[in-house]
This record gives sequence, structure tokens and C-alpha cells, in this order.
Amino acid sequence: MTYEVPTDEVTAPWWDATREKRMTVQRRLEWGHRQHCPRALCTGCGGAELDSAEVSGTGTVDSCTVVRRPTAATCPSSPRSERSNSHSTTSNGC
Ligand SMILES: [Zn+2]
Repeated sequence: MTYEVPTDEVTAPWWDATREKRMTVQRRLEWGHRQHCPRALCTGCGGAELDSAEVSGTGTVDSCTVVRRPTAATCPSSPRSERSNSHSTTSNGC
């Protein structure tokens, strides 16, 4: 089963780089702040002028979370999402 990752104008540059086996992070043009995951605004100052900076990829991943919510009526809800208002991840791609 192939899952097509939904992208938008904010995340597309990062996904494009990963397909080319390059690791990038966002960089705020004005003062060089770097951030990941891709966001519409700088987490340091709220500025919108961001580009992509290639990095070595030798760092350490501290944490990674994938949040998905059912988008179709045919997609079963997980028991966890019914117990709380928190997001959940399911293994069936829903
Ligand atoms: Zn900033």
C-alpha cells in the first residue's frame, strides 16, 4: 500500500528535498533561525520569510510524531480518539 503524503506550499520544499535524499530545515532569512518541521511562520519571531537550508543529517532525532485524523466516513475511528480529544495515529492510513 502506498500512501501519498499530502503537501502544501509550506511542506513541499522539504518533501522535495527528501525525495532527492537531502536533509533540509527551514531558515529565517532575516536572522538565520533554523526550525523543523516546516511551518508557515518562524517559531522565533513570527516572520514569514523562510527558505530551506541543507544540513548534514548527522544530528539526533529527539522526537517524531505523526498526527492523522480520519477524513472519510468509511474510515473507522480508533478507540483512543473516542476516549479523548487528543489526536491519534492509526496503522491503516486513516
Ligand atoms: Zn524569526
